[in-house]
Amino acid sequence: MPVPTNNVSGPSEVKAYIGLGSNLDDPVKQLQRARRSLASLPMTRLLECSSLYMTAPLGFEDQADFANAVCCVATSLSAINLLIQLQVIEDRQGRVRDGQHDGPRTLDLDLLLYGSKTLRQSGLKVPHPRLQQRAFVLYPLAEIAKKTRVPGLATVSSLLDACPRQRIERVLTPQSWMPDRVRHDGVI
Ligand code: ADP
Ligand code: MG
Repeated sequence: MPVPTNNVSGPSEVKAYIGLGSNLDDPVKQLQRARRSLASLPMTRLLECSSLYMTAPLGFEDQADFANAVCCVATSLSAINLLIQLQVIEDRQGRVRDGQHDGPRTLDLDLLLYGSKTLRQSGLKVPHPRLQQRAFVLYPLAEIAKKTRVPGLATVSSLLDACPRQRIERVLTPQSWMPDRVRHDGVI
């Protein structure tokens, strides 16, 4: 008979960091809904979320500001299966795939880090290839993982120091953009 265990981190679990972004159809609500979906992914536990930030668009600048945040999960899904699950959540929230990086979107979920793995498959690159150029990713990531090493690069905090500046405003604490809290209180 197997001995029951109460492992806090299962033997095959990997810590993964996911970047969330939205600038269409009520961006804060989009991120709250995505956070709830992350919390119910199979074989996955939501460990922590950063504050929610409003950020100036980069690249394609003639569009609304983005809401951005980063969440950390412990998962037993493979990296590709996790990415597929993230794309299901994006699709459910009306993501239109027009191939335009940095364009307006209801929801963007990027797999930023998957443990200390480096993956360079077509359709899945980890660490996320544009991570070090994006303050809107590094700022919330540094809030929850500043000492974490990005494989092949440096720590999150040194990448943030070297990253071009961008307008970023912290608007909601991790607690205050929690979906259930919003549902119960009716306010954010
Ligand atoms: P960005 O998030 O940089 O603006 P998109 O979301 O438009 O870019 O790009 C989506 C494409 O990027 C998808 O086809 C997906 O397969 C690919 N991709 C490669 N690596 C990753 C990753 N680590 N996280 C999310 N998407 C990735
Ligand atoms: Mg993306």
